[in-house]
Amino acid sequence: MPEKITRSIQFKSQASGNTETAEMHITAFSVPEQKTRAIKALLKFWLIAAVCVLIPIAHFLLVPGFFIGGIIVASRRWKTDAEGEDARGCCPACHNQITISLEKDAELPQWHDCPECSDPLQLQAVTSSDSGQADKNTG
Ligand SMILES: [Zn+2]
Repeated sequence: MPEKITRSIQFKSQASGNTETAEMHITAFSVPEQKTRAIKALLKFWLIAAVCVLIPIAHFLLVPGFFIGGIIVASRRWKTDAEGEDARGCCPACHNQITISLEKDAELPQWHDCPECSDPLQLQAVTSSDSGQADKNTG
């Protein structure tokens, strides 16, 4: 089973430089789960490619497209150990509670616009000066 992890992060307003603490929800995968997900993606794409053989003319593009696309998506999933779900917290610009969809991206920093006030926000890891519980990956 993929593991749901909540990480504490910060929203930083690009305009004012203010920060607010926030929560980032990610799904973490173990190595066997990464491989299973990659193989499932590959088979799904290749199944679609096989079905596209039946479509006249378009199959010249669709079949190689899904065949190669399957390899690309599978190799990406093979390397992906975590997917971002969403980030929740208070916007440092408009002070509304906001939820930002991370579109499967778990890397930090990320840049998104606030859904309420459209202020550009940077999602960043909590720096050690703000909280003693920042987990640093140096090494
Ligand atoms: Zn806002």
